[in-house]
Formats: sequence, structure tokens, C-alpha cells
Amino acid sequence: MPVRVEHPVIRIQKRAAERLRAGHPWVYRSDLIPKDAATPRAGLVTVADERGRPLATALSSSSSQIALRVIGGPDFRQELPAWIAERIAHAAGFRKRWVQESDGYRVVFSEADGLPGLIIDRYGDVFTLQVTTQAMDRDDLRQAAVAALQAEFGAKIHAVERGEARIRELEQLEPMEFRQLAGEKASTVFKMNGLRFRYDAKAGQKSGAFLDQRENYAAAARYARGEALDVFCYQGGFALHLARACSRVTGADASRPALEVAESNAQLNADQFAIPEIEWIEANAFDLLKDYAAAKTMYDTIVLDPPAFAKTKRAAESAGRGYKELNLRALKMLRPGGVLVTCSCSHHVTEADFTAMLAAASVDAKRTLRILEKRTQSKDHPIVPSIPETAYLKCFIVEAE
Ligand code: SAH
Repeated sequence: MPVRVEHPVIRIQKRAAERLRAGHPWVYRSDLIPKDAATPRAGLVTVADERGRPLATALSSSSSQIALRVIGGPDFRQELPAWIAERIAHAAGFRKRWVQESDGYRVVFSEADGLPGLIIDRYGDVFTLQVTTQAMDRDDLRQAAVAALQAEFGAKIHAVERGEARIRELEQLEPMEFRQLAGEKASTVFKMNGLRFRYDAKAGQKSGAFLDQRENYAAAARYARGEALDVFCYQGGFALHLARACSRVTGADASRPALEVAESNAQLNADQFAIPEIEWIEANAFDLLKDYAAAKTMYDTIVLDPPAFAKTKRAAESAGRGYKELNLRALKMLRPGGVLVTCSCSHHVTEADFTAMLAAASVDAKRTLRILEKRTQSKDHPIVPSIPETAYLKCFIVEAE
């Protein structure tokens, strides 16, 4: 019989225990007893209430303000590699049931899949792992994750790991940008809704597609027509989908490297689909919309998918002004009956905030809006009702009278 190793016990305050009982996996450092207590680096701990009654088993971080992340009940005794394999099989099964016409999607989304600190994206035959907590930064866990992916998707897959400098710094992890974990490929072509896109894990800062918009691309294409403008187009996710339904498409972004990939993505699909040539414009979106408005350029379809203006709760207010300005300008440029697809990927901007912003923009633009669809992130970025932070993307499709 293996020896039962008892984990260190960490007590938490009442309100934190209530949060855990309500199904939320985080314990903030300020909720520990004593407040702001030190926690082991990358440890496995038993979380207990004020009186010491065990509540849960959690992974701990010595540096994050989220000191503990729950992974199971108080009796959790699984070895972590076996636990990872089991969780990945569940996560992959969920995607196999619900993702269609695409081999580009998120396979594991951290807490939303019960694997705090691990994100895995699939781009065709290349899988990208991202480790975002101390406890997940272990070679045996990486190996277990790769083996689980091979069991699900075949022995020939390629797997890489990418590190995001800011996150690794916050968790006090060694800097790490890229490493090959399995196979030899780091770049490939993958499919979303039948369209082909390039992926290169070694390219630059942000790499990879915004997989969370996959279902919204298809939805946008269902409503799009005529002349279309995709603002903040990045590598062309919306623009390419719009091109299947529109007579003319313009994509605009401030990043030249992103536009180069966008153009190359358009060429990849040119043989297969009779899509019009897409015009790519390198520009600041705010300036561009101002210029177009001055020139009275009009569109039938406009997509607005700006970066997260509000990274924190406090920033949400000023972000609201940015969103409103963009939406106001876009509404003024829509022909009567035109369609606006407008997004926000800030968790801190709630659906109610976003609706209010859109209402204010429509009044200023003197346009009556009718909502065609209120959408959110694709299902491979699951929303777990007991973890509000898992819901972050808003995508409204509206018609402007
Ligand atoms: N719609 C894209 C994702 C957009 S991400 C997709 O579905 O793939 C946000 C994009 O906004 C990034 O490509 C970034 O380069 C661009 N960006 C950020 N600030 C900008 C600005 N002021 N003007 C234009 N583009 C900007």
C-alpha cells in the first residue's frame, strides 16, 4: 500500500469558504488565515474552513494573489499526472461533441476545464500548451499532458509550449518563450468553419488565432452583405468569413505583421472559394474611422473587435468611453439597414454595460438598433456558471435603421 501523504492544511476565512462552497475555485491571499499568509510554492494543500474542517484540495502559489486554486474535494488523492490525463480526456471529449468544421480550437481552458493553470490550443496537427501557474510548471505534468493529447489525437501530433513573459513573471517562473515538446513542427495550416488559416507558434509576440471568435465568424457571415469593413482585423478572422458573403471587404489593423498573415490567409483560400480580393489597411482604428466618416464612406456591414480596453475593473469606465466612440463612429458609417457586429473581450465590461454603451452610441448616432443576436465566446472556451470569470466575450449583431 502506498503511504498516504497528508497535505499541509491552510485555513481560510468564512467568505472565502462560502465562495468555494458556491463552486468557485479561487482563494485570494487576503482571505487566508492569517490574512496574507505565505503559501507553499507549487504545493498541493488541503483547504480548511476557519475551524479547520477540510473543504477542498488545491494547488498553491507562493506569489500570486490567487493563492490557492481548487482541483478537487478534501479526499483528492490522485497523482497529478493521472489527474491531468483524466481531465484532458474529458476536455477533449467536450470539444469532439461540440466543435464543428474546425480543427482549430481550445482543447483545455484552465479553470473552465478543471485544470487551473493549463491552456492547450489545437491548430490542426500542432498543439500549443501554455502554463500559467507554478503548480503546473513541472516536466512530469507536461509529459502527462502531451501523452494524453497523443492518446486523444494520435501519436503523430506536434506539441509546443509557449510562455507569456508577463504571466510567468507574476508567478515567479523562469522566463521561457518557446520549446518543442513533441514532434518537430511548430507551424501549420488549420481550419475554422471550413476556411484555412496559417499558424506559426514561433512567430512574434501574440501568435495564433482568436479561436474564441470562431462561432461568431460564422454568425457574422450569416448576416453580412454588400460592402464590409473589419476593424481590428488582426490575421483576418472576420474579414475572410465576410468575404464569403460580401461583394467587397476591407480589413484594418495597426499591426503590419498581422496584416501580412491576413493577406497570406486570404491567398490560402482563394482557390477553394470565390472570394473577392480583400483590401488590407494598416491604420489606427480611431483615426481611420474619423477619416472615413469625414469622407462619407459608407458600409453595409461593419465588424468591431477591439483589444481588451479594460484589463482591470478600474479601467472599465474609461474603456467604456473607447467602446462608445468606436461604436458611435461605426454606426454613423452604416447604410440604412446595415449590420454592425460589435465585440468586447473584457470580462470587466458586463453584458449590461455593453448594452448600455451601445444604447448611448445609438442615441448619439441617431440610429435605432435592433438586436439580431447577443452572442458570447465559442463553446471551446466554456462558460462555467459558478465561475463568472470564465465568461468574458460579448459579440452583438445588430441592424441599424
Ligand atoms: N478580430 C480579430 C482579433 C482582434 S485582436 C480576430 O478575430 O482575429 C485586436 C487587434 O487590434 C490586434 O490585431 C491589434 O493589432 C489591433 N489594434 C490594437 N489597437 C489598435 C488600434 N488603435 N487601431 C487599430 N488596430 C489596433
